[in-house]
Amino acid sequence: MDEKIRRAARILREARHAIAFTGAGISVESGVPAFRGAQGLWTKYDPKVLEIHYFLENGEECWPSIKEIFYDHFGKAEPNAAHRALARMEQADRLKCVVTQNIDNLHQRAGSRAVYEFHGNSSRLLCLRCGAVVAAGQVDWNDLPPRCPGDRSILKPDFVFFGEAIPAPAAEGAFENADRSDVCLVIGSTGEVTPAAYVPIRAKAKGACIIEVNPEESRFTAEVTDIFLQGKAGEVLRAIERELFGD
Ligand code: NAD
Repeated sequence: MDEKIRRAARILREARHAIAFTGAGISVESGVPAFRGAQGLWTKYDPKVLEIHYFLENGEECWPSIKEIFYDHFGKAEPNAAHRALARMEQADRLKCVVTQNIDNLHQRAGSRAVYEFHGNSSRLLCLRCGAVVAAGQVDWNDLPPRCPGDRSILKPDFVFFGEAIPAPAAEGAFENADRSDVCLVIGSTGEVTPAAYVPIRAKAKGACIIEVNPEESRFTAEVTDIFLQGKAGEVLRAIERELFGD
């Protein structure tokens, strides 16, 4: 493993345009559960509360689960060593951007600036009728469902529900960076959610070296991964950071 970490660090050090692609796994050590897998959220909740058509018809019924999943769990989470390592790599110009499937805002809170949020962000709520944006911190969570201060319609979290389109600026920025990348660091993603999963696949097709960090093999491992660093994101990224920066 040490040799693999050294090799990954060497490749990152020499990269022209390294990018990171992150999934729910990078936030597991921050206490945010992933959706899939044995401890995943779908073992406890019905995913239909996040289907856009169901939500639009049944917002009041959906909100208690949405609050529990995204605002109780996510609200208490702090960035971990993996988020911090990526932010530091960007500051040292070793990483051009992070493309994330996550909606927990932890990359930005760790200090990453170039972040393409493929699936939006839970820290904002939207009024679909008048377009008002409400910060999650301003919502009275004891009074569900949260409503627009202007027209009283039920607010929707500003992340992508099942059946909704990916925000175009994020997708365009992500694929543009994938096309230019020579290294793509894939962290904590099953690779089962498309179109986000096409980001590392596009990077690989353009000749990028794929370095994957995950305690378990994913769809990427056999298909595109060049160096598989088996382990937890925080531990592996901290080891890479040490190799890169010597501390
Ligand atoms: P996923 O839930 O499908 O899979 C999680 C992956 O993380 C698995 O491959 C698992 O082996 C790996 N993992 C578990 N612990 C890890 C650790 N400590 N370090 C590294 N990897 C670890 O995640 P996904 O592929 O990202 O897709 C699910 C979708 O759900 C995403 O699009 C995302 O938007 C959303 N989601 C987001 C969050 C969040 O914002 N934190 C949380 C749950 C789900």
